[in-house]
Amino acid sequence: MNQTAVSEGTVSAIVAKVLSQLSADGGANASAGTASYDSASYFGRRYIGIYDNMEEALAAVKDSYKSIRAMTVEQRETIISEIRKLCFAEAEIMAKMGVEETGMGRVEHKLLKHQLVSRKTPGTEDLLTTAKTGDGGLTLVEMAPFGIIGSITPSTNPSETAICNIIGMLAGGNAVVFNPHPNAIKTTNYAIDLCNRAAKALGGPEIAVSVKKPTLESADIMTHDPAVKMLVCTGGPGVVKAMLSSGKKAIGAGAGNPPVIVDDTADVPKAAKDIIDGCSFDNNLPCIAEKEVFAFDSIADELIYDMTRFGAYLASAEEVDKLAETVLVKQENENTGETKLVINKKWVGRDAKKILHAIGVEVDDTIRCVICEADKDHPFVQTELMMPILPIVRVCCIEEAIEEAVRAEHGNRHTAHMHSKNIDNLTAFAKAVETTIFVKNAPSYAGIGFGGEGHCTFTIAGPTGEGLTSARSFTRLRRCVASDSFHIV
Ligand code: NAD
Repeated sequence: MNQTAVSEGTVSAIVAKVLSQLSADGGANASAGTASYDSASYFGRRYIGIYDNMEEALAAVKDSYKSIRAMTVEQRETIISEIRKLCFAEAEIMAKMGVEETGMGRVEHKLLKHQLVSRKTPGTEDLLTTAKTGDGGLTLVEMAPFGIIGSITPSTNPSETAICNIIGMLAGGNAVVFNPHPNAIKTTNYAIDLCNRAAKALGGPEIAVSVKKPTLESADIMTHDPAVKMLVCTGGPGVVKAMLSSGKKAIGAGAGNPPVIVDDTADVPKAAKDIIDGCSFDNNLPCIAEKEVFAFDSIADELIYDMTRFGAYLASAEEVDKLAETVLVKQENENTGETKLVINKKWVGRDAKKILHAIGVEVDDTIRCVICEADKDHPFVQTELMMPILPIVRVCCIEEAIEEAVRAEHGNRHTAHMHSKNIDNLTAFAKAVETTIFVKNAPSYAGIGFGGEGHCTFTIAGPTGEGLTSARSFTRLRRCVASDSFHIV
């Protein structure tokens, strides 16, 4: 993979140039909230592949797919290399745009996420052909394109998910039509345009399309078009359920609530740092990020103290009540009239400093995360908050830790973490929790290839079982049989 063809110096020069242009002609506007870009253009540059409505986008993607089918695998890989270069070079622009448009996350972490997705999303090398030979001849099984894929993307990793999907889907020989999250449409469409620019620069077609104003209706039109053969949905439980009920082949990458267990054999200072690093990464937006901790009582005081050394603010019981009143809201079930506490989306992905300010606590910029002690049934433990608030539950032993961690994960089978040197404890938790990702003794992001082995993805398909999706997830297996021939032994 030639993603390092552009040197770091060149990348920095390009980024500096674009940023200086931004501040010269539009940066002031952008920071004032009236950015000179919308869902179809960027400082006068019209996006490629972004259509007025879903009908037009679907008509265009049908042509795209015909062109992609005519391409060789090598041509697809060449375009993917160009996508990597462009997305890596413009990582900072997308990072800033994502924070500005959604109000969520941190620029420095989104920069890393874009660099990671550009480098470590697998391309065509992920496709495997298998062969079986014997007295009957030769049988080949190849990974073939699924066709046109409809993709729904979240607001939490908007451009990262679009880039990741485009690389994997194109590697598999597919074309993709997006119905992005409306709250992140500018950023997502910027990334889609960038990938199309890479393809066009090499004489290729539009490889991905999107709409200017995505709605539930446009998602519905996309879902029901017979030309769309597969749906890939990255988002919360509602939308994943809707896509899985569509009657089409669907990949569902849904919600998580990753628990962390810290036992009495852990390297406690390291565990504290890893947990705060992971939990505060992009203000806890990644679905894999640490959401609640179950700590052995014997090490809990030390763990909490060490967390405060690494940028955590320890909230008092009174402050926890105020935080709960701020970041949670009551939601009534229309049918039963029952109420439950859900997250107040206003606070998703916000800085710890701002969340604390809202309850009258002032801290400096070194504070990345709010920690608190909580009962195992506290809504902070049981709700996927997606903000840098981390509850810590004291447990007596591994049995209690595993029981409560599995309960808090809610059967999402998404991600879990553990800090321990006891192989029996590690194995027992991994077996019991059955998550797609299980990270041992590292920050959560090691699970998607950042400081850990393995490829990167932003579409982690627990419900439908593809796991960390890659090119091969977007293919269908086809068998070719040569009876009684091509068997040379
Ligand atoms: P969300 O569920 O609010 O929205 C996702 C997308 O679905 C948006 O484009 C939205 O407009 C659309 N949508 C919602 N209901 C729909 C319906 N009935 N039909 C068609 N489209 C519909 O997601 P979000 O808040 O942006 O993302 C956060 C959630 O996504 C969290 O639960 C997080 O864990 C999950 N997530 C999972 C992964 C993963 O890889 N498993 C990755 C990122 C986010």
